[in-house]
Amino acid sequence: MGKDEKNEKKEKNENNKCCLKEDLEYIALKNNVLKMAENLTFTAELDGIQDMRKIGFPISQYGVYVKSKIPFRTFKIPVDAGFSCPNKDGTLDDKGCIYCPKMGRPISVEYCNRKYSLKEQIEFQLNEHGRKGINKFYVYFYPATNTYDEPENLKELWDFALSYENVIGLSIGTRPDCLEPEKLDILETYVKQGYDIWIDLGVQTLHDKTLTLLNRKHDAIDTLNAIKNCKERGIKVCGHIILGLPGETRKEMLQTAELLSLIKIDALKIYPLVVIYNTKLEEMYWNAEYKSLDKIQYISLVTDFLEHISPQILIQRVSKDKVPKEIKISPEWDLGRLKILNEISNNLKTRKTVQGSKFNI
Ligand code: SF4
Repeated sequence: MGKDEKNEKKEKNENNKCCLKEDLEYIALKNNVLKMAENLTFTAELDGIQDMRKIGFPISQYGVYVKSKIPFRTFKIPVDAGFSCPNKDGTLDDKGCIYCPKMGRPISVEYCNRKYSLKEQIEFQLNEHGRKGINKFYVYFYPATNTYDEPENLKELWDFALSYENVIGLSIGTRPDCLEPEKLDILETYVKQGYDIWIDLGVQTLHDKTLTLLNRKHDAIDTLNAIKNCKERGIKVCGHIILGLPGETRKEMLQTAELLSLIKIDALKIYPLVVIYNTKLEEMYWNAEYKSLDKIQYISLVTDFLEHISPQILIQRVSKDKVPKEIKISPEWDLGRLKILNEISNNLKTRKTVQGSKFNI
């Protein structure tokens, strides 16, 4: 055997050992999640929602679920209550996640803005959408980490948002390590009063090596515990997932899909990774350390992901709203979420599969 052949064999053996180690770690995590989820139930299952696949929907769309559950037109009002983030204010780090822009997350809704008080933000949007015949609302605390404050301050904000007659619930965007029991206890009291309470949780991936690379400053177990702790109190969880993260393989993304199904997460928003100016990811992009997925790759990956998750998980989104071109570097393709949703549905049709076709636990 020549030197090159020997080196190749050695390298192959090392790769196999590494895969074996990662596979064993994954199996251990999966067994742990199965135990954690023993007493948990999906929201859709609890609400007796029939399998949407049987009524002709290849994807369990959240919108269809809401219409079947709430006999009113509903809308989520995004508000900016001025929260910071422990990963940006120096508590955990001051750099933030590698894709998070220094100037904060862009949002295209005029009235979701700190230049207006919370009261103004809510009332303007209630009136605007009320005129269009929408009569039930969720208040969506959107930018940054919206549970990053003392419980009593959070309670004051949440009480205020729920004091409007037509507000039937809250959606609260946050990180897995900012959901301490005292805060969840307060949210549980609203659930007991009949409000629909959702946590919009930044999950991104359930692989620690990627979470480290992203500079998230929490690990997969933090995320799984956060989901479990919410669900045990009747608080629903919508996880935000990013496909196309640096260094992640298709197999790893599908492992995240499997774990989220096992922990019975209620809903998902799936996004492509977007390179925005003024981020660490921008540097990686210009140094050719990161390349965005093209549109065909993204559609194919989301299709795979959907095939591998439980049909009981409600899908809220499969892409982003358009990111303004003044701040977006990559990908070049149009992110418009309805267009992408159609393309993914067509892809499932072509493959003759539906959400959950390959989920077999
Ligand atoms: S947790 Fe969210 S707000 Fe905080 S740095 Fe990461 S992306 Fe930005």
